[in-house]
Order: sequence, then structure tokens, then C-alpha cells
Amino acid sequence: MITNDLTSKNGHLMIGGVDSVDLAKKYGTPLYVFDVSQIRSQIRKFKSAFEGAGLKYQVSYASKAFAVKAIYQVMKQEDVHIDVVSGGELHTALAAGFPSEKISFHGNNKSFDELVMAVQNHVGVIMLDNFHEIEMLSRILKTDDEKINVMLRLTPGISAHTHKYDQTGQTDSKFGFDVESGQAKEAMKQVLDDSNMNLLGIHAHIGSQIFGTQGFVMLAQKMIAISKDFQKEFNYWPEVINLGGGFGISYNEDDDPITANEFIKQIADELKQNCDNVPEIWIEPGRSIVGPSGYTLYEIGSRKDIPDLTPYVSVDGGMGDNIRPALYQAKYEAVVANKMDEPIVETAHIAGKYCESGDIMIDQQPLPETVPGDILAVLDTGAYGYSMAMNYNRNPRPAVVFVEDGQDKLVVKRETYQDLTSLDLDY
Ligand SMILES: *Cc1c(COP(=O)(O)O)cnc(C)c1O
Repeated sequence: MITNDLTSKNGHLMIGGVDSVDLAKKYGTPLYVFDVSQIRSQIRKFKSAFEGAGLKYQVSYASKAFAVKAIYQVMKQEDVHIDVVSGGELHTALAAGFPSEKISFHGNNKSFDELVMAVQNHVGVIMLDNFHEIEMLSRILKTDDEKINVMLRLTPGISAHTHKYDQTGQTDSKFGFDVESGQAKEAMKQVLDDSNMNLLGIHAHIGSQIFGTQGFVMLAQKMIAISKDFQKEFNYWPEVINLGGGFGISYNEDDDPITANEFIKQIADELKQNCDNVPEIWIEPGRSIVGPSGYTLYEIGSRKDIPDLTPYVSVDGGMGDNIRPALYQAKYEAVVANKMDEPIVETAHIAGKYCESGDIMIDQQPLPETVPGDILAVLDTGAYGYSMAMNYNRNPRPAVVFVEDGQDKLVVKRETYQDLTSLDLDY
């Protein structure tokens, strides 16, 4: 989202029909707020694009972007699948009542215990990533006399970095089986030979915050070529081709995201032209589902003016609730939620409260005249914000509120100081 999509009333930013300044008063700051109807509409856009393109499909929410019980419950209501990448995410999804058969379990180093947990809870698919895992899973299935669906995660030699694509012979990645060197074929042979594993298909994920359709079309072509090659060798044709996630969103006006319709239509054309038996297509969006619907509300506090330099305006959160600017130089935009109608008078650095010089939330933020107590709303913080939050400097993690149809509901409580010491023991 960029700032001109926002709605305001009496000078206050409105989120899902609720006054954001009232939310900050009611629940305190920092506060994560999610506009749930926007999450639902994003999912429905993906679904209707697939339906329009006439493809069998599955949308699987990559829950590492934001993984709390309430979001799993929204995903259940929207009847989509989810990806989990750890025992903790699996536990949270199951605790939320999410159906295990719609869960895909990912990860490049799943532990034995995590695999046992996945098998015992009958997850829908285990995304096999390496030979060690095939061997462990095979043992677990034999011991427990269980069968399970698996897919092979491949590194097909395409990786997308936002605006650039590499198509190299061999992808240097910690994830998946390399296609070029023959690892993927060896993995397929092992899986097809194991009668407790049902190979549902192949998977690849080429990056994150990707713009343009080219990378995904290249990936679809490559996955078809790989499938044809495997078919010759093993007489196996995938039921599912999973193209992963990574669809970019607009954090600022330089970002130009693709619409679901554009890339799904192009992929459908590619598949229909090149396959007699078009597999089901799965995608795994994370950021694009929850990112644009999320806002973080902060209270503005201190200010530092330095002659001839950009002033620093500090807020009561920072890298503990949003590590992305410090970690990836991610860029955000913000508005002053209680001064939406006031003219912009300056540009400031928005600084966090953490004891790191690098804790700068926004490098150059246009602002109206601000005073301590004003509410700053940082936009598009729904993905990889709360899910990466931490307690550096022993700051409690903020609460999370869902808003929809003019109603607000607390879905994650604010951590307390007692919570911070609840695992500490005396010495
Ligand atoms: C992280 C991840 C995703 C989601 O990526 P987004 O950029 O959030 O859409 C999808 N699939 C896999 C395997 C991932 O690791």
C-alpha cells in the first residue's frame, strides 16, 4: 500500500472502519493492527485468478510471514492450505484448530522430532528437502507403519532477487535438491522406491519480494521441462507442481507489484501449451497475503535537531517489533495517524528506541509538525514483523489487534514484564 490508498476521518487514520487513534488509546503502543478484510480479499484475488485461468490449484499461506492462532483461524475460514516450517508453527496451527491435512511442512533441517510430530499429526504433505530427511522420514514411517504425502523441493537453477533473475546451471542455496547435478533424480528414485511415501509432485521457491511475471513464467517452464525429463526416466508425472511464493508488495511508491491475474494467466498458458496432462498448481504466498493489511502504531517521543542535518524523531518501538529495516534495509512509509489532514513541513529520520545506531525505522519520512504523544502509523508491516519480533533490551513484544467491519478484537496480548522473566531461574 502507498499512502494515497489510506482513508481518514476527522484527521484520523481509519483501519477497517476503526479509528486508529482510538486503537492506540485502547490497547497502548506499539500496536500491530491487521485489517482482516484486506487479508481475505487478497486470498480471494489469488483464487479467482486461478479459477479465471481454468487451472486446478491450491493457495497455501506461507505462515512464517505471520504465525499466530488467529491468522490460522482466518486461513481456515478462507479454506486455504498453509505452510509451516517448524514444530512451533505446526503446534500453533494445530492449537488454532487448523486441519492438519491442509498443512505443508517445509524446512531445510527438520529435526527427527519435528518429522515425528508431522507424521503423528498426519500433515497433508512433507516437503522433502535433503537426503538426511528422506532417510529419517523413511525410518519413522516404517516404525510407525504410516504413509504420508511428500513433495520434493528442487533448486531448479532460477533465483529471483526482486528485479533481477539469475538462471545459472547450479543454484548455490541451502534449500532443496539440485537439479543440474542429478541430486533431484536420486531423491526421486529414493522416494518412488519407498512404499510409505506418496510423491505428490515437485516444488520450487525462487525468492521473495519479486516483481514482474518473468521469473514465475521461467520457473513454470523449467518445472515442466524437469517433469518431462523425470517422466522419461521414472514414468512418473507430477500431480502437483508447486511454484512457491515471493510475490512482491508495494512498501513505497518505487515498488510495482504484479497482480495475481497477470502471472497466473501467463503460467496457465505456458502449462496448457506444453503439457498433455496439466498438473494442479500450488502457490505459497506469505508477504502478499498479510503484508499490506498490517499497520504498526507507535507513539512519538523524543526529538533531536542537529544544525544542517535531518532531525531524528523517535518512537516507542523499533527493531524489536520490526527488524526488517535493520536486517534488509527494508523501506517503509508512515503517516501521523492523528494529523492526517495537516500539511507536511519537514523530513525526519524515524528512530527506534533500541540501543543500536542501526535502529532506524525509516530513513527519510515526510512529516507534519509533530509533538510527543502523536501517533505514527507505519504501513504494510503485516509480514515478517510480529513473526520476527524479539525482546532485545528486554522490551515486551506488542499486542496484535484484528479489525474488520468497524469492530476491533485483541488476538495477541501485549507481553508483560512478568512474561519477560517467566522463563528465568534464580542462581
Ligand atoms: C518464505 C517462503 C514463502 C513465502 O514467501 P513470501 O515472500 O512471503 O511470499 C513461500 N514458500 C517457501 C518455501 C518459503 O520459504
